[in-house]
Amino acid sequence: MKLIIFDLDQTLVDFISVHDEATQELFKSFFSVDARLTDIDFAGRSLSDNFRELGKLKNVPDATFNEKSSRLFEAYEDAFDRKIPADASRHILLGARELLERLSRTDNIIALYTGDSPGIVASVFRVTELGRYFSFCLYGTEVATRADMVKLAIDKAKKMARRNFKGKDVVIIGDSVRDIECGKLFNALTIAVATGFHSAEKLSEAGPDYLFDDLSDSAKVMRAIG
Ligand SMILES: [Mg+2]
Repeated sequence: MKLIIFDLDQTLVDFISVHDEATQELFKSFFSVDARLTDIDFAGRSLSDNFRELGKLKNVPDATFNEKSSRLFEAYEDAFDRKIPADASRHILLGARELLERLSRTDNIIALYTGDSPGIVASVFRVTELGRYFSFCLYGTEVATRADMVKLAIDKAKKMARRNFKGKDVVIIGDSVRDIECGKLFNALTIAVATGFHSAEKLSEAGPDYLFDDLSDSAKVMRAIG
């Protein structure tokens, strides 16, 4: 039995256009600046960290940002939910649903960790129906680092299964260098997929145990998981 932790954005789904539109709209209305998510290296980080960095890049004073940040989050979740297409089939990445389907027929514990907030994940699950595959979700907006989410995931899995998950019992699947770096802190099995904004070359330099172009060959990914 393993604990398999999936990243969401650019690993299982691609809603970058929706994130980017919402970011542009909100930064314009809150801070009167033109800002795009793609102006920064957002991959594998929390929404809160990304907003803060984008604010700094666009010279939004810290005091202004802090004063408006909680309202910004609420408005972002509303904007994201308004903009997300009802038919999300083309936003689910190749092979993602099939892999989750196959894993759901095993005794492994499947978890989600993401830099998104609970509201964003709820919108994504509403239109993709991917939520049913996960035993639980961890959100980057509720903890300081990605590693904190993994710690919480291991604790939760331990309570659920009444056994420990150590080293390669933990599998992390993600599209960013930060997912691999985070997995290495736990000596976890790391599987990188080059469906995001970090190139296969950059991912390879981070030294994942496995690197795939995408999740389309789910049999191969299942073998890598072990
Ligand atoms: Mg990602």
